[in-house]
Amino acid sequence: MRLAAAALLMLLLAAAAEAATGEPFTFPGTVIPTPFPGPARSIGSAANGCLAGATALPLTGPNWETLRPGRNRFWGSPALVAFIEDMSRQTGSLGKLLVADMAQPRGGRMTFGHGSHQTGVDVDLLYRLADGPLSAEERAAPAMDSVLGTDGKPDQARWGAKQTALVKAFASDRRVERIFVNPAIKRALCLTAGVDRGWLRRLRPWWGHADHFHVRIRCPAGQTECIPGPPLPPGDGCGKELDWWFTEEAARPKPPVPPRSRPPIPAACRQILEIKG
Ligand SMILES: [Zn+2]
Repeated sequence: MRLAAAALLMLLLAAAAEAATGEPFTFPGTVIPTPFPGPARSIGSAANGCLAGATALPLTGPNWETLRPGRNRFWGSPALVAFIEDMSRQTGSLGKLLVADMAQPRGGRMTFGHGSHQTGVDVDLLYRLADGPLSAEERAAPAMDSVLGTDGKPDQARWGAKQTALVKAFASDRRVERIFVNPAIKRALCLTAGVDRGWLRRLRPWWGHADHFHVRIRCPAGQTECIPGPPLPPGDGCGKELDWWFTEEAARPKPPVPPRSRPPIPAACRQILEIKG
């Protein structure tokens, strides 16, 4: 019994370290509205870092629409922008990609909403796809409906073959390090995947993520200041590790991370983010 509890705790700790999404909290500084000039540099980890030489994902493209541009979070490493543009071509037959938060112009901690997304390698994508161009209202205040029904399982009205194909396309791409999805989404995909299961490994269950999935690409080539996430556990992650997410323990609120346990901001980011003192 004690062994089982220890094993569960290990799983939880491993999951927490892996997701490194941190606690959303208010950043005391101001967000600089323009990118830091010069070459592209993703510095630090996704949950504690910054970004130089960012490029903006255009508001609209042949197969994507960028949401909530007023947030000014449509920035990323050029590698991320190229990745989104390429994936939108690959998944174009399904519909238009709806792209939510990426990074702030210089990355860094966000004023609200995310612990990660700090180095320009993260992008949130809606499970929902669009058929055509968005109106200004749809872009500024998009419907963010959970794809889960009241029973906690994917609802067929909002989750179907297109969503499966969309997530599978992203999870099958070698540029992707990991993807965070709601545990119920992972479970549904585990049950329907059949024999082709290698892509499931990149899907990591995490709280939330019922209206969008969070894609993290690998550190861009040659960027040695970029700290990758921990290696993925072996296997498709459909067994015991996934079962934990449906226990009472997983349903309990997470204790907040005390501020002292946060690692210091990488030195190079202090200049880029204009942190004084
Ligand atoms: Zn995200």
